[in-house]
Amino acid sequence: MRKQIVAGNWKMNNGLDKTMELLSGLKTQVIPEDVAVIVAPAFTNLYNAFESLRTYPIAVAAQNMHQATSGAFTGEVSATMLKSVGVTTVILGHSERRAMFWETNEILAAKVDTALENDMTAIFCFGEELEERKNDNHFNIVKEQLQEGLFHIKAANWDSIVLAYEPVWAIGTGETASPEQAQEMHKFVRNLVSDAFGNDVAEKVSILYGGSVKPGNAAEIFSKEDVDGGLIGGAALKADDFMAIVNAFA
Ligand code: 13P
Repeated sequence: MRKQIVAGNWKMNNGLDKTMELLSGLKTQVIPEDVAVIVAPAFTNLYNAFESLRTYPIAVAAQNMHQATSGAFTGEVSATMLKSVGVTTVILGHSERRAMFWETNEILAAKVDTALENDMTAIFCFGEELEERKNDNHFNIVKEQLQEGLFHIKAANWDSIVLAYEPVWAIGTGETASPEQAQEMHKFVRNLVSDAFGNDVAEKVSILYGGSVKPGNAAEIFSKEDVDGGLIGGAALKADDFMAIVNAFA
């Protein structure tokens, strides 16, 4: 069975006090053994989050990192810095990074390389915009994002990759892709991976869905064959909602 994963992307929310409060809320709950749970607080709170969760089965991820190892990149954070505070998982290619911070497939390919060189796990995000879906171009866009940003890696590196399909039109909008739309895209992506890297790799990689996942819709989305969990935004900011989603696997 593939690894089931629920990751909370807290985006630019919560200072240190609110971060610790939310972590305390999560720590009162029982984490199911067969679900890998990840939270991604802001950079400034990663160290405290990691320390707080040290003996607890919740991993801490960063929301981004720079592709260079060190140097004159004012305002940026490197893989080695993240690792120095215990963080070994990083979200790459979130649509907000692509749209607002000009992250291209080429830049993301470099970030993926840096993550792998540093033995980190990358949660690689991709997904089409509304216009692209309306024009029936969503499969092409996703294929391009994956081929240009990720598919240059070696087959052996796929153990360090988690995929996250996040249709941009479903992020923070309250509009979720239907379970069928999610399944259709996840299947398409798994087939792409299979064609390029073989069936064994494709069957092993976890593909998460992200975009307005809530306690009320998580179970139905997670029940689909090729949906291996979720990348949660808004609903990850409330401990009860997030844990309800973590427990939504059948
Ligand atoms: P929402 O769950 O708020 O739609 O955000 C999804 C997301 O962008 C997670 O990375």
